[in-house]
Amino acid sequence: MDAHQDALTGAAGRPYVGRFAPSPTGPLHFGSLVAAMASYADARAHHGRWLIRIEDVDTTRCSATAERTILTQLACYGFVHDGDIVRQSERSALYEQALAQLRTNHLLFACACTRKQLEAAPRNFEGEAIYPGTCRERRLPFASNASRVRVPAMGADEVSFVDRAAGAITQRLSTELGDFVLRRADGIYSYQLAVVVDDELQGVTQVVRGADLLGNTPRQLYLQRCLGYRTPGYLHVPLARNAAGEKLSKQTRATPLATNNVLVTLHAAWAFLRQDPLKNASSVPEFWSLAARNWRPDRLSGPPTDALTQNL
Ligand code: GLU
Repeated sequence: MDAHQDALTGAAGRPYVGRFAPSPTGPLHFGSLVAAMASYADARAHHGRWLIRIEDVDTTRCSATAERTILTQLACYGFVHDGDIVRQSERSALYEQALAQLRTNHLLFACACTRKQLEAAPRNFEGEAIYPGTCRERRLPFASNASRVRVPAMGADEVSFVDRAAGAITQRLSTELGDFVLRRADGIYSYQLAVVVDDELQGVTQVVRGADLLGNTPRQLYLQRCLGYRTPGYLHVPLARNAAGEKLSKQTRATPLATNNVLVTLHAAWAFLRQDPLKNASSVPEFWSLAARNWRPDRLSGPPTDALTQNL
């Protein structure tokens, strides 16, 4: 069995469950469509289930209006999800249970460091502060402070996995990240905790998402290990960038996905994913039925694409 096959069956023979997990901080743009398309095509190509999870755990940044827009956009582009839509804002009790488990196993500590205090800490390749361990042994109360998970000391801190596109990835958590936050001082659970708990509880076997999250995956694998969870397979797809080379996002003012020209935009996203043109797809349902039959994830391996999408 080759590495890609291994990664796909990393989910140990469980029936395929994929998901698209948008954060409702704004409307979907072309980059979101690319990620949604890859996860949908991969799920349908494997006759799997495909879930929508609204990642509104950070209630300070999310809105119900953005959620409604996203769901309308997805429906308009012909995505059909399985099961109920899950919202992270309704799952605090589950995240709290996971934190309690980590606390019982002495893997959690309270941290009173402010962003300002961490400014002097060295940065990792993503520009994040590498936590210097300041509060590790201080035994502060959890209630009014952030909660961080301890990462193992050097030598035992290496996390590796095989991404279906990027290949073998290794990260040393102690030197490249340090203990990381699972709940902020204001009580908001971190994306890292919520995504790991939800992927496990929803039985997700394949995570297909944008390459901007590749560097977050080792810490998610570490958390899965700490919590005794299963590890899904991973496929990180190329990021759509604007003319300035920036990732399309709300911050870079990416154009929201329009609800006209849907088929043209679907074909463009498919091409962006390096797939062979679906010449016979002249309606949205036809597009998706052909996409499921012609999806070639192996096309995503290799050096990242430099395609620009400034007109989309
Ligand atoms: N909510 C994340 C985003 O919108 C995606 C998280 C994930 O797919 O793991 O970027």
